[in-house]
Amino acid sequence: MIKSLSLIALGLIGSWLAPAWADTDDKLKVVTTYSILYDIVRNVGGERVEIHSLAPVGSNPHEYDPLPLDVQKTNDADLVFYNGLNLEAGNAWFDKLLQTAGKSGDAAPVFRLSDGVTAHYLTSTGQAGSEDPHAWLDVRNGIQYARNAREALIRVDPAHAASYRRNAAAYIGQLEQLHARALAAFAEIPAERRYLVTSEGAFKYFCAAYGFEAGYIWEINAENQGTPQQVIALLELLKQRQVPALFVETSIDPRSMQMVARESGIPIAGSLYTDSLGLPGEPGDSYAGMLEANIRTILAALR
Ligand SMILES: [Zn+2]
Repeated sequence: MIKSLSLIALGLIGSWLAPAWADTDDKLKVVTTYSILYDIVRNVGGERVEIHSLAPVGSNPHEYDPLPLDVQKTNDADLVFYNGLNLEAGNAWFDKLLQTAGKSGDAAPVFRLSDGVTAHYLTSTGQAGSEDPHAWLDVRNGIQYARNAREALIRVDPAHAASYRRNAAAYIGQLEQLHARALAAFAEIPAERRYLVTSEGAFKYFCAAYGFEAGYIWEINAENQGTPQQVIALLELLKQRQVPALFVETSIDPRSMQMVARESGIPIAGSLYTDSLGLPGEPGDSYAGMLEANIRTILAALR
C-alpha cells in the first residue's frame, strides 16, 4: 500500500517537473509491456509511433515494478500493448499500473497482442490450468501479434491505415520466411536429439511448432524457482534420457542450470532468448534476430 501510494506521488511530482514524452509532433505515443512487443509494434508502426517499453531489456516481464516514469508515460499513451496469456500477471503489476495510470476499463486503448492465439496451458502444481504466456516463440504467433498491432493502430489512427498495412505486410513476409527457415533448419536434428532443456519451461509453443520435447527446472518464472526439489526432478528425468546439451536463458539467472550441469555431467551449450530481446548490438536485439540466434544455438548443440 505504501509503495503504490509513493508511486502515485512520485508520478505526480514527475509530471510537474518534465513532460513524460519528447515533443513527438504527430506521432502516436505507445507503451508496450516488454521488449519483444516493443520490436513487433515498432516494425508495424514504423515512423508513426514513439514507443516506451516497460520491463527493460534483459529483465523478467512476469514480474516488474513500474517506475514513476512508466506510470506517467502510460497515463499519456495513445495505445498500450500487452501480451496477456498470464504473462504480466506475476505480481499483478500490469493491472495495478493500468489502474494507477487511469487506463483500466473497457474503453481504454489497451490491446492484448496474443488475441487469436491458441493457448497452451501450464501443468505444474499450483499453476495447472493457467495459460502459458510464451506464444511468441512460435513465429506464427508472432505473425498474429503483428496483425493485432496493425488492427489496433488502424483503429486508433485510421488516417494512416495504408502505412500500417504496408509495414505489416512487409514484416509478416519476413516472419513467414523465418518460420520456413526454422522448420528447414530443425529438420537437420535427429528425432532422438530433439530435447530442449532450459531453466524456465518457456518452450511449449516452440516445441509444438518445431517438433521438440521440453525439459525444464521450473515451468514458469515465479517466486519459488530453482528449488532443490525442482533441480532433483530434472536430474531424475535426465538420467532416463540421452540429452546432449542443456541451455540457459539470457533473462534468467544461470546458477540453477549450472548446478544441473555439474550434477548431470551434461554441458550447457549456449544461451537462448526467451522473455527479452538482447541488448542493442547483440544478435538478438530484435524479435526476428532473437529467433534466428536461437535457431543457430539449438542447431549447433543438437544437430
Ligand atoms: Zn517466461
